[in-house]
Amino acid sequence: MKHLIDPTDLTKSEIDEIISLAQDIIAHRERYQGSMSHKKLATLFYEPSTRTRLSFTSAMMELGGNVLGFSDARSSSVSKGESVQDTVRVVGCFADVIAMRHHIEGAQLYATEVSTVPIINAGDGSHSHPTQTLTDLLTIQRELGHIDGITIGFCGDLRFGRTVHSLIKALSRYKDIKVILIAPDELKLPDYIKQDVCERTGIPYREVTTMEEVMGELDVLYMTRVQKERFLDEDEFDRVKDSFVLDDARMALAKEKMAVLHPLPRVNEILTEVDADPRAAYFRQVENGKFVREALIVKLLEWKDDPEHGMPTDETPVEDPELRCPNKKCICNNEHAPHRFRRTENGVLRCWYCDSKVR
Ligand code: ASP
Repeated sequence: MKHLIDPTDLTKSEIDEIISLAQDIIAHRERYQGSMSHKKLATLFYEPSTRTRLSFTSAMMELGGNVLGFSDARSSSVSKGESVQDTVRVVGCFADVIAMRHHIEGAQLYATEVSTVPIINAGDGSHSHPTQTLTDLLTIQRELGHIDGITIGFCGDLRFGRTVHSLIKALSRYKDIKVILIAPDELKLPDYIKQDVCERTGIPYREVTTMEEVMGELDVLYMTRVQKERFLDEDEFDRVKDSFVLDDARMALAKEKMAVLHPLPRVNEILTEVDADPRAAYFRQVENGKFVREALIVKLLEWKDDPEHGMPTDETPVEDPELRCPNKKCICNNEHAPHRFRRTENGVLRCWYCDSKVR
């Protein structure tokens, strides 16, 4: 069964197929209307969302399909204590594909173990958000005409920003990417992305603490919101919440052809004065999200049982009853998911579901 839980579940050629189908949908929308008639998408959102849920809904409607689900888990049997796995077993009887957002990391991966229909991860905690990544890739492609060869600056909350983690993983499939990480110490990119993704795949990255010193180098500036809901300590959030603000003066330091992306919602990190700048691509990015989700739904239903398009199988989980995942927000510390691990090339043991370092 083909699911999309992590960006690396897609090969480079599968990403290319989705991006080029999205471009074809944009160019010939009428050809795809009705292509999903009698198909149903379930949107199971255990955490708030505006763009992602509505763009999935709008995408399925544009394809002529139907949508069911919940946007507040309190209105479902989850409030009676139903597990994620039981919920997807049930919903798989009603829908052809499921898009799920969950505050617990690894919840969707755990759900795939029993699902009879493809599951799309619409965001799990601060871990991963692969459909935002497809949106970002399509946006870069449309704004700049290419993805290979770009220098991209990620600015803001690189620690909890799941869209950053996923996009860096996907960019590891492209050629000659350079990454610049702009963040205060408290919000730095997690080690597992630096080591297991950038270092392992050879993406050069450097860490800086001001936007000004790198603005002129960037082809893409990827702004992010400081993720208030992920902080355990409110004082820590207050200290870093306004670390970076993009304004016209900083835009004046950038290349003439640069694209500013933001997964939205923005809070204070991009002043509205920037919106009129032709390089501000974040509202165009929102619309791209709908087209790329249309393409994803079409492709996943086409690939779902095709052995040519399976899930990556190059890793076998390590099971050790002595070891525990240290992440309290991981599925294995919240439901009866097993404590399973994967050994990385540098010998580190990481949680199978949330990537936290275990040993
Ligand atoms: N909408 C994005 C997400 O769901 C970014 C954000 O919330 O800041 O991760």
